[in-house]
Amino acid sequence: MSSFEPTAISRSRPPDLVSGYRLEKLVGAGGMGEVHKATQLSLGRTVAVKLLNPELAKDPSFIARFQKEAAALATLSHPHVVAIVDKGKTDTTYYLVMEFVDGPSLRELMRSPSMETPVLLRRMLEICRAIEYAHGRGVIHRDLKPENILLDQQAGGIAKVSDFGLASFLDDATAASRFALTSTHMSMGTISYMAPEQRVDAKSADARADIFSLGVILYETFTGEVPLGTFDPPSRKRAGLDPRVDAIVMRCLKPDPDDRYPSVTALIADLEPLVPGSLLSMPPLRLTRWQRAKASMRRAARVTAQTAAGVTVLAAVGVLGVAYHRSGRCTCSRRCRAPP
Ligand code: ADP
Ligand code: MG
Repeated sequence: MSSFEPTAISRSRPPDLVSGYRLEKLVGAGGMGEVHKATQLSLGRTVAVKLLNPELAKDPSFIARFQKEAAALATLSHPHVVAIVDKGKTDTTYYLVMEFVDGPSLRELMRSPSMETPVLLRRMLEICRAIEYAHGRGVIHRDLKPENILLDQQAGGIAKVSDFGLASFLDDATAASRFALTSTHMSMGTISYMAPEQRVDAKSADARADIFSLGVILYETFTGEVPLGTFDPPSRKRAGLDPRVDAIVMRCLKPDPDDRYPSVTALIADLEPLVPGSLLSMPPLRLTRWQRAKASMRRAARVTAQTAAGVTVLAAVGVLGVAYHRSGRCTCSRRCRAPP
């Protein structure tokens, strides 16, 4: 990952906040907190440390979701899924330690006009394989979007699916109730990539919701646009794209889950023949120096924007909390000073 100046929020994190790790640099910020490039001191290797925002760490539902993200990652061991290394708690918050993926996100790759269609098809296949595997292990991602797909430059630019912060387990009824999404969690998902049934009721959405998100990602990867309202088939928007991609994308995007592919395995069966065999052993993804500099500037701008958005969410959570306490419905004796 390229460098950028830490924000005011990241500057307040001491490098030794997490015992056993040295935080080096803020590399990302989202709805749940911050991700730092760090050194695992015992092994002297680079890792990524995701810190739950300390304000959210006061809310049991956010702690539960964070633990669930760790549980989902721990269930998965796959070349196209970010690996978890550790998890734990500091005095003020919770953290996850993951392998550090050094490279751009799919969002940044999409902005590179030189990216060739066969390479993009290959990346799509890798993402589908990761999700096929996750579904096979009973995990639905529920927040697939280009920002949550990282491309590992050290490993030839391969795709790695990350951010299982909204994931659910298919066969765990108690977990479904324990980790039911609140409206705050729901709003953390990204509406453009969400299946229609997931927008209405996240709990009822099954693995086919991820297939819808994969369809949106496929469409956007090849056209640069998300498919909204009536939209052209992707091959009409991207010269040289095999028209067979159109049918694959359209089937993923069916509003009724019963009309979509029944499984990611079925989707892969249609997608795989379109990827040139020579790409099964690909040379490393190489960005030019100029592309790297641009990606670096974009990432700096994005983290600043993400951090600002995170602060807004926290402010909203705070305002709602105060309103709730003032309403007198709160049973908390410690923090409520307002009379009932
Ligand atoms: P959130 O749940 O807040 O969206 P993410 O897990 O998506 O958090 O992480 C936010 C950003 O941090 C990502 O978009 C990415 O830029 C960076 N990031 C996350 N995980 C890693 C990782 N394992 N290696 C390198 N960068 C990462
Ligand atoms: Mg994310």
